[in-house]
Amino acid sequence: MAMFNLKGMMIFPTPERIRETVKMKEMIVIQQCYCPNGHNLVSNQAIFDNFEGIVLKTKSEKGEGLVALSPVFGIKQRVSIGITLMKDELLEITCPECNATLPVYSACSCGGSLITLFLDQQNDFTNSVLICNRVGCQNAQIRAHNEVANYDDSGNVIFR
Ligand SMILES: [Zn+2]
Ligand SMILES: [Zn+2]
Repeated sequence: MAMFNLKGMMIFPTPERIRETVKMKEMIVIQQCYCPNGHNLVSNQAIFDNFEGIVLKTKSEKGEGLVALSPVFGIKQRVSIGITLMKDELLEITCPECNATLPVYSACSCGGSLITLFLDQQNDFTNSVLICNRVGCQNAQIRAHNEVANYDDSGNVIFR
């Protein structure tokens, strides 16, 4: 199985068991990502398709809770724990370990904010995962050395 490691992520052929449900031939899986204080946000507190999820703390008008995201780029699964998420609301997203606010990278086209999860402990915005803080917004990006990762039409991973 062809497999290679980039900072914080791995790319490998989509396992047979989930190939039925996703179009990707290859998948990008986030293996570690960090808050500004270097805490790993990937945790076995949430498992998606056998992969450890990205667990974030979240605050809204309704209170505080945890949100877990699938670490597979392109699979938009989110689970909330201890909080009910309302579609379209904007969340404050922090590190579950130290409560640090995850920094805003830029505005999202939906009017929310793209929040930065660093792929290394250098707080390097050019190696990061960006997710929107609006519940229901699907916008997510992976930036690696100023290239943006994506899937091409045939389901292979490309950086450009
Ligand atoms: Zn932290
Ligand atoms: Zn958005």
